[in-house]
Amino acid sequence: MRYLPIHFDTRDAKILVVGGGPAAEAKLRTLLKTDANIVVVDTDIGPEVARWATQGKLVWEQRDFDTSDLDGASLVYAATENDDVNAVIAEAAAARQIPVNAADQRDACRFITPALVDRTPVIVSIGTEGTSPALARALKADLEMRLPPETGAFALKTKTLRDHVKGLMPDLADRQRFWAKILGGKDLSAQLRVSPETLEKQVELNLAGEDETAGKVLLVGAGPGNPDMLTTAARRALHAADVIVYDRLVSDGVLELGRREAEYIYVGKTPGEPSIGQPAINEILVEKALEGLSVVRLKSGDPLIFGRADEEIDALSAHNIPVEIIPGITSAAAAAAAINSSLTTRGTNRAISFLTGHDAKGFAEQDWASLARPNGRAAVYMGVGASRFIQGRLMLHGAEPDRPVTVVENASRSNQIITYTTLRNLPDDIATAGIKGPAILLIGYAERETFSEKRLAV
Ligand code: SAH
Repeated sequence: MRYLPIHFDTRDAKILVVGGGPAAEAKLRTLLKTDANIVVVDTDIGPEVARWATQGKLVWEQRDFDTSDLDGASLVYAATENDDVNAVIAEAAAARQIPVNAADQRDACRFITPALVDRTPVIVSIGTEGTSPALARALKADLEMRLPPETGAFALKTKTLRDHVKGLMPDLADRQRFWAKILGGKDLSAQLRVSPETLEKQVELNLAGEDETAGKVLLVGAGPGNPDMLTTAARRALHAADVIVYDRLVSDGVLELGRREAEYIYVGKTPGEPSIGQPAINEILVEKALEGLSVVRLKSGDPLIFGRADEEIDALSAHNIPVEIIPGITSAAAAAAAINSSLTTRGTNRAISFLTGHDAKGFAEQDWASLARPNGRAAVYMGVGASRFIQGRLMLHGAEPDRPVTVVENASRSNQIITYTTLRNLPDDIATAGIKGPAILLIGYAERETFSEKRLAV
């Protein structure tokens, strides 16, 4: 190990950055998070650095570097855009024994800066001693995924609980065993995400010798099907789940992100076929959570849009089972993205309605008069079978037969199909297109001439 990783206390320290261009800006982004007094010396600085100077986050000396700038500096960054100048600064700092980092000149550096995963107060620094910046970046990306944003809060809470545990367990080895148990479960990242209250409860239960943790249910949005469109929170939840209860429209690519050992329960409802009822789904969720398992209830798109989430939340709440909701990209958003169209357009529509083509009674009635107005725009879910009904109702209320309608089938998936039509031709064009997959009808949305490349799941 040629480079020693240390965490340097920046309180009351002067850090000198020579340069105010892009190289300096990159260093400053990290330095500004510290408590150091930062001095930037350069005749000219970029707009970001200037903004920081105006905000008082650093002091800008508007002139060329002078060796007297090194006075009192604990660290020096030679980060001008000129290698020769940087070399001169590095030499001057080295002559005074002040640790220096020179941009892009490893041999002139007394210290180098690692890649960071910042969950203050938890900081992970990654260095490869310059051998592989690409590997450092990959490791950073991997750790960014695994360490949830709550990691810092978790560490802070642990700090306050430590004294409490110390009072009850005077023996250090006992305490170490205790904390290893709290943190040593099968999924560290899930544990890091627990709320401070839950952590406190876990500690109390453990101290009382009862360490069964209650199960919980996460209602997770699986998005429109392309796994790229999942949130990081959804990925984490899938990774940590003991049980995954999923709908018909959840894609295989998304399901594959769960653990192989997890239990997978299909509860899809196929339109027009006998399928599992909502009470039975609620029962599965309650039962699994009461067994102490971590349950992910995976719904296509966003779980709170046409997903009967309330019924599940109520059933779980009746049993005091904690529920957490992780939003997802709803299919209307994915459909709009597929056609490069804004859902709301300045000067055209001030609102957009999310409609369902079907409800418990059959074809769903809507406020047709308002939808039929020239600027009425809507995204219709479950609307393929109801297209003739929707067309009839809208025209009856005076909608223009030439009103554009765009149908996006399998939005975001590799088999995405877009059909541009009009209200007049909607049912016939749907029939001709032979739509079998899930589709959104975008009423009032026409084809746009744009140049785009789509990000579709392969
Ligand atoms: N909660 C989901 C909607 C569930 S209702 C969401 O927020 O998207 C089921 C309807 O969603 C389908 O009938 C279809 O209209 C729509 N849908 C789901 N996935 C889709 C996709 N990939 N492309 C187009 N529409 C989709």
